[in-house]
Amino acid sequence: MSKDKNLTINDVVDKASTYLSDDKLEFIIRAYEFAENAHKDQFRKSGEPYIVHPIQVAGILTDFKMDHETIAGGFLHDVVEDTDVTLDDLEKEFNAEVAMLVDGVTKLGKFKFKSKEALQAENHRKMFVAMAKDIRVILIKLADRLHNMRTLKHLRPDKQRRISNETLEIFAPLAHRLGMSTIKWELEDTAFRYMNPQQYYRIVQLMDQKRDQRESYIKEVMVEIEDQLKQVKVDAIISGRPKHIYSTYRKMKNQNIEFTEIYDLLAVRVIVNSIKDCYAVLGIIHTCWKPMPGRFKDYIAMPKPNLYQSLHTTVIGPKGDPLEVQIRTKEMHEIAEHGIAAHWAYKEDKPVKQDAAAIGQRLPWFREILERQTEDQDAEEFVESLKIDLFSDMVYVFTPKGEVIELPSGSIPLDFAYRIHTEIGNKTVGARVNGKMEPLDYKLVNGDIVEVITSKHSYGPSQDWLKITQSSQARSKIKQFFKHQRREENVEKGKAEIEKGIKALKLVPKEILTEENIKRVCEKFNFKSLEDLYAAVGYQGITASLIVTRLTDKIRKQQEQEEQLEQLTEKSTSDAKVIPKQTKGTSGVEVEGIDNVLVRLSRCCNPVPGDDITGYITKGRGVSVHRTDCPNVQTEEAKERYIEVKWLDGYEQQKEYYLDLEISGYDRHGIMNDVLQSVNEINTQIAEVSGRADKNKIAHIHITVLIKNKAHLREVISKIKQVKDIYAVTRTIH
Ligand code: MN
Repeated sequence: MSKDKNLTINDVVDKASTYLSDDKLEFIIRAYEFAENAHKDQFRKSGEPYIVHPIQVAGILTDFKMDHETIAGGFLHDVVEDTDVTLDDLEKEFNAEVAMLVDGVTKLGKFKFKSKEALQAENHRKMFVAMAKDIRVILIKLADRLHNMRTLKHLRPDKQRRISNETLEIFAPLAHRLGMSTIKWELEDTAFRYMNPQQYYRIVQLMDQKRDQRESYIKEVMVEIEDQLKQVKVDAIISGRPKHIYSTYRKMKNQNIEFTEIYDLLAVRVIVNSIKDCYAVLGIIHTCWKPMPGRFKDYIAMPKPNLYQSLHTTVIGPKGDPLEVQIRTKEMHEIAEHGIAAHWAYKEDKPVKQDAAAIGQRLPWFREILERQTEDQDAEEFVESLKIDLFSDMVYVFTPKGEVIELPSGSIPLDFAYRIHTEIGNKTVGARVNGKMEPLDYKLVNGDIVEVITSKHSYGPSQDWLKITQSSQARSKIKQFFKHQRREENVEKGKAEIEKGIKALKLVPKEILTEENIKRVCEKFNFKSLEDLYAAVGYQGITASLIVTRLTDKIRKQQEQEEQLEQLTEKSTSDAKVIPKQTKGTSGVEVEGIDNVLVRLSRCCNPVPGDDITGYITKGRGVSVHRTDCPNVQTEEAKERYIEVKWLDGYEQQKEYYLDLEISGYDRHGIMNDVLQSVNEINTQIAEVSGRADKNKIAHIHITVLIKNKAHLREVISKIKQVKDIYAVTRTIH
């Protein structure tokens, strides 16, 4: 491609005619004519008619053998921005595809990249890609930038520097990631010339000094290789490899070495017809010259992330200097030079469909390239942030100062506000988007400039904000606000509730809330202090009844024993034995061989029909029925009082049993609801619910359900386990 001389429209059509059919040629000529007419009174800074620029852009695109719509897009890329032509006009005159491409290029053109730090540059590149929607937009934009760089000398020095900087930070890396190395090299070298002319010309000079010597040496090597290949009848194109100024500079700077130390300046490239030949050539070169250890790289077996393939080796050349050799096939060479555009390249015999579905099919391929970029370092972070989903999962917006903020797609100004600062989020009362007031639930789109309006009189977030925000960051900040802001209120409320609960059991709060008891319960539920516990009850992170049960369990057990003792004493002093009622009707359990005995199901393990059970003869309160695995009846003492019991046949359908389940899972929004709903779905009644989250973001949910039998229980448990993010469901034993 010619860089110094402008192409004429005829040059471009000639180039396109090598691969486009006549009707496609007619299409791009029409695009040219349309553009020429639209720009007819305009001139470039260089004084040339404006149309010269679009012609060069289209010319660059034909070098990459792009399809006719992309080339038309190249001709037309500035008409919407710089003339009266509208997108509708383009759609009518050409088609929706061309209009879409021009629209994309126009939108990208509106960006002012301000680079302060690497991260911002990275975000800009991401937004750039995300906004482009169609990769061909980026290709047109790169061609546009390339020609603008070629003609940069006509601009003011400050503009030259700004544009060059942008080129180094945004456009060259993009070209690299798309594997378009020819564009990348030229963008880099040109930008470098404006950014750092001193270093640029120094390196050019150093290269020139040794040029003759180097070139004759390379020639010698090439002839030698050619002879060897002829003997084994391998066809090959052998060339010296051009060296690039900016990459040489970077290498010197990064590795802190002098120009003379960059030994791979001597480099030869061998292009052959097949992969088999690649390895044959490698063998021959390694026989002629001694390979340097550790320098052989097989990018054919292991392509680079941007799909680059080649064999690289460095040998000790005929004069004892290191000589780098690259070996590849023609196809590999095409990809190495043109990257993604090589895959795009229009081939008349294999027409590329231009419908939306076909484009969608190519995008995953592009995505894949980006995802596979793990080898070189700077690409790593690029992938890290892009791998989620290039075109849909994120939205990129600006602060009024021009910084780019990345948010989950669907985000609203509140998400933006919380991303800037928690306090800004909490005090938000409104938002201006692109200078216009918008509601707080306005859905942000790529490129929006967002300004948050705050007021120090704001009462803080409302509960609704939890429903409308998209980012987990905003949500957790809002939740935090509610926890902290209302803490005093919550502590008071929690305290009152717990004391009320204790009194309801006819106990005295003071006696229950002993230091030891508080410590035990706080530890059990992971609270740091009694105040924390109260606060949690206050904002309903946990139910008062659960805490009260825990606080009073010891004292209640004690009371029970006392009662039993009393009854026992009563019995022994009175002969009037009270015969308990026949109890089959209530418990569903029969005691082997005994009819008239009081049977009750223990509350500690809540057995249900189908469970293995055992009876335990209590002192004076009949037989209590436990699950055989209940730890409360595992003691030696208890075993002496075992009695065999069994479920009554056909009883299962008639009664429901209270049963406690402890459920744990990841504490995400709505997990409690999902659990309750899942239980509801199988028509199971819930008697009590409580839940809390611990510091490890684990949700603990206690529910008391009414269960018919073991099969029913199994169904309930498996249903709950199907809820997303639930880790475990267990039966509680008190
Ligand atoms: Mn342009």
